[in-house]
Parts: sequence; C-alpha cells; structure tokens
Amino acid sequence: MPVLFMGHGSPMNGIEDNMFSERWEQKGKEIPKPAAVLCISAHWYTKGTRITAMDFPVTIHDFYGFPQALFDVQYPAPGDPALAQATAGLLGSAQPTLDHDWGLDHGAWSVVRRMYPQANIPVLQLSIDYTQPPSRHLELGRELMALRKKGVLIIGSGNMVHNLRMMNWQLQTSGFDWATEADTLFKTQIASGDFTPLTRYESLGSAVKLAVPTPEHYLPLLYTLGLQNKGEHPIFFNDQTVMGSISMTSFQLG
Ligand code: ZN
Repeated sequence: MPVLFMGHGSPMNGIEDNMFSERWEQKGKEIPKPAAVLCISAHWYTKGTRITAMDFPVTIHDFYGFPQALFDVQYPAPGDPALAQATAGLLGSAQPTLDHDWGLDHGAWSVVRRMYPQANIPVLQLSIDYTQPPSRHLELGRELMALRKKGVLIIGSGNMVHNLRMMNWQLQTSGFDWATEADTLFKTQIASGDFTPLTRYESLGSAVKLAVPTPEHYLPLLYTLGLQNKGEHPIFFNDQTVMGSISMTSFQLG
C-alpha cells in the first residue's frame, strides 16, 4: 500500500470543491482500496502516544469561526479496535494508549471523507507525542511499516509550511519568499532520501524557522518518511503555497 503526506490547509477544503480537494478525490480512486486508514493528524497532539480504538469514532469539529456547513459535517466511518491493538503492538516501545475519547479531527476527516466519501473504510488516528524529539517520530513511522503490507493506508496530515500568524488573505495562491524557499528545501531533502536534516529542522535556517514556528503540522511528515521503502521515490502533488504562509505540498510514496 502506498503512503501519503497530505497538506490539509483550511478546514474548508473538507467541503469546498477546489484544486486540492479534487486531487484528494482523485487519489482515493488511484490508490488500491485500503483495508483501513491510519491517519497521523497535526490536530491530535498529546503527552504519550494514543491510538483511537473505538468501534465508531465521532466526527470532531475542532475549529472556530467557520460556516455552519462545516460544523454539520459528519463522517461516520467505523473504527477498527483489533487494528488499533495490532498497531499498539508494533509501537511497543512507545507504550501507546488505546483511546476511547478522541474520534476523527478535521486533519483526518477533511481529507479522508473526500477520498472515501462512502465512509465504509475503517479510520484510525494515531496521536503525536509532543514530549518526543523529531527523530523519534521518524522512527515511529518506520515501526508502522508492517501495516503497509496489511493493506492499511497511512496518511500523515499536516502542512510542511504552516505559519498562521503570517497568513495574508490577499495572497490566495502564492507564498512569501521564505515560504517558497522552505517548501523547496523540504522537497529537495525529501527527494534526496536523507531525512536526518529534516529531523533537525530547527537548524535549517531562517526560512524554515518561519515555516515551522510550532512543530505539530510538520511532524506528520516524519511519519510518512519513516515509511519509505528502499527504491521508492516521492511523487509530489498539490504543490502550491497559499495565503502567503501555508504550503499544501503533498506526496505519495509507493
Ligand atoms: Zn491543520
């Protein structure tokens, strides 16, 4: 099964028909039908690693100031408690907690409902442990490798360049110079196959400092990279900076 990193951007992409969401729909048709989806979302940032393990995860509307239509969205995909247990086993050293309180946040459902609108594929979320260094998130991704062979589609959902404070609504489909510079640097490093510099992103210069002011939207990238098999090369898509300071750049491995 391929692996994805998805730049999710605005929650509105979950309901709007635009170039990004259309590409997500297309991806859902291109990729072999998965047995389940495991999403590592920027919006589930916890102390310790957690995995959703309920039969039916609720749809979480974790945002404010958006139209009612977005709050009305329900994505009733089932969970998969047995798969949650198996995933926890793979991540033994992280001692993940099987979670019955979360659900699907918009980092997961905004993307997955466009890929699989019938909501008939089980969806799980894996949280990001904020106490761990970036290199650990790359390792945890690697430890999930066996799930690919089981037909589980793993999606890291965040944004490589994500600075909400610098957002500029005038710049609908373009980026500040530093945003473009950081995005290009990330893509080059991803394509090189040497991910160590990406785990030390804080020392990659001033453009990257502006691009990653907080780590939660960046770290899902490291899970996706950890799942790269030898000989696989990234296929980039939605390679576009929006609002000046957010890049939607996404890629597929395998
Ligand atoms: Zn987000």
